Formats: sequence, structure tokens, C-alpha cells
Amino acid sequence: METNTQKICPICGRVYNTREFRTYNQTKYVYFVHKFRTPDGKRHIHKCYGGAVNQYTYVQKFHNNSQLNLIGYPSNEQKTTKYLTYLEQILETFQDYQEFQQFSIQVRRILWKYDKRFQKQNNNNITQ
Ligand SMILES: [Zn+2]
Repeated sequence: METNTQKICPICGRVYNTREFRTYNQTKYVYFVHKFRTPDGKRHIHKCYGGAVNQYTYVQKFHNNSQLNLIGYPSNEQKTTKYLTYLEQILETFQDYQEFQQFSIQVRRILWKYDKRFQKQNNNNITQ
């Protein structure tokens, strides 16, 4: 049984009414169903796609060597924890130091790019 605190949609952050499961190619996918009324009283249903219930088996096929375990819904982990777990799993795959160094340089470039982007956003927010 779900409690009210578990009925928050992980996709949009709003409360959902029910979950809907669909199976396609032996993978079970979840949708979070939001039922509400528009200001003019009409019933409306919105479904947020929550991804594969256990893991993305199709995508997983291409990552068997990397041991990357992609996590779909449900995951009670926080986003940061989940992404750090992915990163650790990726880093575990490196056996060659030179290859690791190349990857490391690329990751730092990406981090630097996003850091700059956030700094720019923050500066824009301060000056507005
Ligand atoms: Zn939602």
C-alpha cells in the first residue's frame, strides 16, 4: 500500500492519482496518472512517463561489458545519489590509465561548461 507521501510524481513533482503499467517487449513501463478539472470544470487526465519499472533491458544489452545498471522507476534514491552511482559504475569499467585520463579530461570539460552556465544564470538572477 502506498502512503500519501509516496504519491508524489517523480517526473513533475505533483501529486498523482494512480499509476498505470504497460508492458512492451517484456519491459514494464510506468505512467503516473494525474486527474484534475480544468477551470471550466472539464475532467482532464495527464500521464507522466516514468520509464521502465526495473531497468532498461534494451539499452542494458549494449552496456553488458560496462556493468552499468541503469535504474528506472522505482528508485527511492535521490537524484544526486543515483547519478553518482552511475558515475562510479562507469569509472569502474576503466582498466587502462591512459584511457581513464582521457575520459577524466572530457568529464572536467563538461563540468566546467555547466559550472559556467550556472554561474551565468546566477549572475543574471542577481542583476535582474
Ligand atoms: Zn507527473
